[in-house]
Amino acid sequence: MLIFKLSLLCFLWSCQPKVEIKSEITEKKNENLNLDSLPPGIQKLMKAYPGHFKTFENNEIVWKDGTKMPYDDFKKDKSFAQLINEADLEDQLMSMAYPKGKNAPKPKQKEDPGRVRYEAFFKKMYGTSPEEVRKKLTTVVWLPKSMNIKLQVTTVNDIHLKIQGISNRLDTMPHLHKYLKNPGGTFNWRNIAGTDRLSMHSFGMTIDINVEFSDYWRWAVKSEEGDGSRIIEYRNRIPLELVEVFEEFGFIWGGKWYHYDTMHFEYRPELLLD
Ligand SMILES: [Zn+2]
Repeated sequence: MLIFKLSLLCFLWSCQPKVEIKSEITEKKNENLNLDSLPPGIQKLMKAYPGHFKTFENNEIVWKDGTKMPYDDFKKDKSFAQLINEADLEDQLMSMAYPKGKNAPKPKQKEDPGRVRYEAFFKKMYGTSPEEVRKKLTTVVWLPKSMNIKLQVTTVNDIHLKIQGISNRLDTMPHLHKYLKNPGGTFNWRNIAGTDRLSMHSFGMTIDINVEFSDYWRWAVKSEEGDGSRIIEYRNRIPLELVEVFEEFGFIWGGKWYHYDTMHFEYRPELLLD
């Protein structure tokens, strides 16, 4: 009997999810850091991702585990293509301002706020391989009352709780549901179409909504290389009311890019600070 009980205990223990799921978004703090003395980009980084960093010194951001990451490559006057393909962390934080809210103007040529990304940062934050990212994923229920669709997203930065928050809110807005059914996908380790850069879908902090009402710049100009030199006609069918809900929880929208991708939302709180 005792052996049975023990083995039952072991069985129950082994069934526990690998990631501990918290039910509330916890407020994390930057301990012992005087933010005012740091470069503006580093201040943004620390405010947006509290609890991840120890300090900033000698042009390097020091993560909690001691990993050091360069901030500024001191290359000035980067072209649009260089910003997209060879961004440093400083470019990611400082090069393009994201226009928050529903009154944002149509994006101008070569304005892609959020597409300037230092890939090493996202690998360190979310995982350097599909296996590593997968270990931190959990299931959230998309629009639990009306659709009840299961999605795999990361637990890093409490993103699962933030997506659940978005989902619960949008559940109460039935006029938006046609844009939200059949979501195009969340976690998928892959490159961005036509590039050797990793898609943000690789990290489990990104969601595509219904493809049926979406527009993507590559569908409009099939041969465009993405260097920003060709005029692309802007298209969007997604209501900005929906976008505002995502922004409130720290997600930027691909519809605010000149190289637009209107189904796409990714967690980038550094671009949404007041
Ligand atoms: Zn996407």
